[in-house]
Amino acid sequence: MDKIKIMNLEVFCNHGVFKEENVLGQKFLISATLHLSTRKAGITDSPEITVDYASVCKFIDEYMRVNTFNLIESVAEHLTMALFAHFSPLREIDLEIKKPWAPIGLPLDYVSVEINRKWHTVYVALGSNMGDKLSFLENAIAAIRNDVSCRLVKISDFIITEPYGPVEQDDFLNGALMIETLYTPAELLAFLQRLENEANRTREIHWGPRTLDLDILLYDDLVMDTENLVIPHPEMHKRDFVLKPLCQIAPNAVHPLYHSRIRDMVENI
Ligand code: ADP
Ligand code: MG
Repeated sequence: MDKIKIMNLEVFCNHGVFKEENVLGQKFLISATLHLSTRKAGITDSPEITVDYASVCKFIDEYMRVNTFNLIESVAEHLTMALFAHFSPLREIDLEIKKPWAPIGLPLDYVSVEINRKWHTVYVALGSNMGDKLSFLENAIAAIRNDVSCRLVKISDFIITEPYGPVEQDDFLNGALMIETLYTPAELLAFLQRLENEANRTREIHWGPRTLDLDILLYDDLVMDTENLVIPHPEMHKRDFVLKPLCQIAPNAVHPLYHSRIRDMVENI
């Protein structure tokens, strides 16, 4: 990916845990590496289709002066989120905030915090088999669409699936989404579980009826196994009600453990 770099933009503002810092202010230096494709703008020499670094600098300058935080960790985190929200072509940002006058009573060049944040590509399975199933799925999609840390990219058709397993229950409505998110896997799971809870989801019977089920299928090429979260979803390769909607929106996505395309996984189920 191409990069636009801004080095040591100087802003005088009031971040810090000490009252003196909030009142007197001090110098901060901001460096940013903006990852985006500059190819089209470069070929056509069109300023309107790239990210204008002057606008980015003005945005950073104003954001740093209008908002005041205790920690430069927070400055970096919130500023990065604001940049993603404001400059949609940005795919990834490295941001360093330096504090050359940090009041620690010892001489130093500067202290700094550097973070890297990016949009992750994620596939999510949706399911419901209780009450107004379509509304539960549509409300979840609306909540994802309205979340600042998510961008909805694709929605599959919804399919009706007969339940299987030991529990007698109603048919399911199933679908899949492609989203981009700034959330970590754990944060995304917490967000999706909050949506499940808001849909009055209860967890009485394992594999029993549910108003809303939101599962993380794939998260970039990530492979992880923790107590609460397994990615890729460990059951996805066995479930046609997951693979069929997923295949509609991402037939050529590759499962990072089986190294096979979703379209081939559907055929081999
Ligand atoms: P299921 O989706 O298998 O029918 P639940 O929705 O009740 O069951 O989820 C049970 C637990 O599965 C959740 O509490 C969550 O911590 C865990 N889990 C593990 N991996 C994932 C994943 N990839 N997506 C969603 N939940 C997951
Ligand atoms: Mg689930």
